[in-house]
Amino acid sequence: MASARIPVIGLEVHLQMKTASKIFCGCSTQFGAPPNSQVCPVCLGLPGVLPVLNHQVFLYGVRVSLALGCRIQSQIVFHRKNYFYPDLPKGYQISQYNLPLGTAGAVDLPSGKKVRIMRAHLEEDAGKLLHRPEGGSLVDLNRAGVPLLEIVTEPDLESPEQAYEYLKTLKGILESLDVSDCDMEKGSLRCDANISLKTDEGKLGTRSEIKNLNSFRSVARAIAYEIKRQGELLDEGGKVVQETRLWDDAKGVTQGMRSKEFAHDYRYFPEPDLVPFAVAEKEIEQARAALPELPRQRAERFVRQYSLSLPDAVGLTSSRSTADYYEASVKKRPAASKVLANWILGDLAREINERNADRIEALNFGPERLVELVELIDSGKISGKMAKEVLIESLNSKQSPKAVVDAKGLSQVTDKEAIKVAAREVIQEQPKAVADFKQGKQTTLMFLVGQLMRKMKGAASPALSQEVLKELIEKG
Ligand SMILES: [Zn+2]
Repeated sequence: MASARIPVIGLEVHLQMKTASKIFCGCSTQFGAPPNSQVCPVCLGLPGVLPVLNHQVFLYGVRVSLALGCRIQSQIVFHRKNYFYPDLPKGYQISQYNLPLGTAGAVDLPSGKKVRIMRAHLEEDAGKLLHRPEGGSLVDLNRAGVPLLEIVTEPDLESPEQAYEYLKTLKGILESLDVSDCDMEKGSLRCDANISLKTDEGKLGTRSEIKNLNSFRSVARAIAYEIKRQGELLDEGGKVVQETRLWDDAKGVTQGMRSKEFAHDYRYFPEPDLVPFAVAEKEIEQARAALPELPRQRAERFVRQYSLSLPDAVGLTSSRSTADYYEASVKKRPAASKVLANWILGDLAREINERNADRIEALNFGPERLVELVELIDSGKISGKMAKEVLIESLNSKQSPKAVVDAKGLSQVTDKEAIKVAAREVIQEQPKAVADFKQGKQTTLMFLVGQLMRKMKGAASPALSQEVLKELIEKG
């Protein structure tokens, strides 16, 4: 019988930092410019040019490393990573090798899991190949030399769910640091996954590396697929090959690409054009003091300031946009701090999911609209149940909750006199039901309430309708 196997997963995240210019030259990093319009002799790798490190890139790298609890290297050294690929004009990538900028950090996940960060290092991006359907490929080198920070975990993750949770938590931290737009669609946040299976006796397996993962969901799906594939292969007596595999999101499978080159194949050697430099302790301490409030700290403040439970506060602060949304709404209605949190974590989170929106802004339902909705309930104008429908209608029509309520004549009638008028009509129209009720058949009251609601187009407060009907029948 095959012994149980435990997945061993490590993730590499490439973060594009949002500096105005590239890492080693003055070219713009603006996204979406015409192909090859943002290039110069340095990023084209022409002979005789010298790269110069963009100081802002270094500072951003330090900021991220510190936020991840990393130690900062005392000497900054760059290496050449040599390989041939058509999108790499120099024939090598300038990266960091044995002395990465940050080492030995950790990220605490909401579930309590701690994920160790092995390293965070600076490097330049390569260009982009455009494969034409009619054949042939074109190269766009606008992205060559765009600054990246590669963040590598220890192989501490054990499931697709944990990998997903780590990425969400990491993204929340990165967003709070304001060093990147963290947009996966634009490629400013990219992820590769390393997966192997170890036996329960601790014997490590061979790993495969999965690339081409362009959403957190595809990372989780690809990992689940790879765990299954490797497990089945081993069950059949096969061997896992060390290789790079590409994730095909449409087919839901990984496919082998090329055998993994070993590190020495890259023939790393120190970049002779960039002189190593010592990091000033003072600069690190300044960067540490200037760190913004991180998601975990923000969650703890939410608990103190808005009397929320810690899980709710962690949920709200897992993304910067959700946390900002919450704070903007609670500012307008401090008394509703818990109610607002419930709406955001409940109905709004569900709608974000169902509408495949990646963040709360995409709903076009600003904090002022949520506050308006809560005020409509608090004033008794609509019931909590009606509010859920108003929310959906408001999201669909992009109208404010108030406009939806007015347009649909949805308001809950709590005016006792208006209900009395309708109730008298119902009593007159339904003599048999009224008689049944008088003889003790309690269930007919609900029938009468139903008739009354129909007459008032569902707008009457059900509790009040019942009370008024009972009162009138018992009196008459
Ligand atoms: Zn350039």
